[in-house]
Amino acid sequence: MSCVFCRIVAGELPSERVFESERVLAFRDIRPAAPVHVLVVPKAHVESLFELVDRELAGELLVGAAEVARSQGLERGFRLIANIRHDGGQEVGHLHLHVVGGRRLGPMLAR
Ligand code: 5GP
Ligand code: ZN
Repeated sequence: MSCVFCRIVAGELPSERVFESERVLAFRDIRPAAPVHVLVVPKAHVESLFELVDRELAGELLVGAAEVARSQGLERGFRLIANIRHDGGQEVGHLHLHVVGGRRLGPMLAR
């Protein structure tokens, strides 16, 4: 298995897990961009949001992100980011939502 997030889900690579549900896992980003930076991923491999068709899984990912935000004390707010495919700047080809917060974030779009 070559996908790094599939290997994290399988426990073959270490990660700091912060949330888990039946089909979703959340763990801290290895290079955090803010005090809280958590990745929320489907346990089954889906390449990106572009390929996502499972509405139940979509809901579980979104609610997972909200649960992460609550458990990480992000009541002041946070940002939810999905980088998608080449033009979206996606580096890891396994769908993930970034939950980023714990400080005031700057303007959203990098140009
Ligand atoms: P992308 O640009 O694909 O949206 O973001 C991928 C994210 O995955 C990056 O923020 C990067 O730091 C994170 N990442 C890459 N490899 C690993 C890893 O092995 N473990 C963890 N926890 N995060 C990773
Ligand atoms: Zn994968």
